[in-house]
Amino acid sequence: MTATQYGIGVDLGGTNLRIAAVSPTGEILEKIALDTEVKEGRERVIADMCGAIEELCGRMGSGRPAGIGIGVPGIINLGTGMIRQSPNLPGWSDFPVRADIENRLNTQVILENDANAAALGEKWVGAGKDVSGLCMLTLGTGIGGGIILDGHIWHGRDGMAGELGHMTIDPNGQLCGCGNLGCIEAYASATAIAHMAHAAINVGRSPALSRAAEEVGELTAEIVFIMAQQGDRVAREIFDLVGRSLGVAVANLINAFNLPLYVLGGGVARGWEAFRQPLLEEVQKRSVVYRATTPRIEPSALGAEAGLLGAAYLPFQHAAPGGAASASKA
Ligand SMILES: [Zn+2]
Repeated sequence: MTATQYGIGVDLGGTNLRIAAVSPTGEILEKIALDTEVKEGRERVIADMCGAIEELCGRMGSGRPAGIGIGVPGIINLGTGMIRQSPNLPGWSDFPVRADIENRLNTQVILENDANAAALGEKWVGAGKDVSGLCMLTLGTGIGGGIILDGHIWHGRDGMAGELGHMTIDPNGQLCGCGNLGCIEAYASATAIAHMAHAAINVGRSPALSRAAEEVGELTAEIVFIMAQQGDRVAREIFDLVGRSLGVAVANLINAFNLPLYVLGGGVARGWEAFRQPLLEEVQKRSVVYRATTPRIEPSALGAEAGLLGAAYLPFQHAAPGGAASASKA
């Protein structure tokens, strides 16, 4: 029996740690999901991750993986293989993550920003499989971004390109976690949606949202979406602002890149129907390049698997002729 060829993808989130063995054509062959024990510290999380990778490789039989791609929620330095800044992984900054994991597993490890990995996954086997370039926003707790040009992640000089969640859409706007005012993250992330709903409750604007909050204990973006679908006026206003804010951001991206596809992923993208219309109206109004070229603007095709698949694709892409060179150089 010949050994199955596969790559290992890791989606290292602040809450969930997911690891998959993926075939060269993008099928998930085996998967392990764990909690990320962030509170137990970096050493514990890396040990859990490496243990799960070894277990997965054991399940795959005698062959060795093509390599390991790890998507991490933070700004990373590709040259050093270190995380520069990650609010979700306190204590990981300026630690040689890549070298440490390579030493433990004796296999090539490719570290990548999680949103970059998600964009690459969509390019590989998702919404962008028929285009050579795309831009993706991942709308989760925060907002990440990834830019794919000619099939490869655009890294910039150090690997920090694509921080699209910190694009300013209002110069005097809401304070963002990064220290800037008016980032798109402060308007269209799950955190921002929950924050807007709480603000409406606090001023007594929405008894319905208030009741929903009391019932479930914690008001989430998903509940606000359900309320919007049920016609609640305040919930609909919130998603209208989400859509308009995203429209401003996407119009800027279209004007900057002239790509064929813009993908919206992450948990908030499940609310696509509640913000699609205001988003498209803003883009139509604001982007001359959109009006001239009408690129596709779509929700993610891979959902929660985008980052995992993109991470697993990294070792295949690096192994391809010219892959590593064009992938790591800006
Ligand atoms: Zn910001």
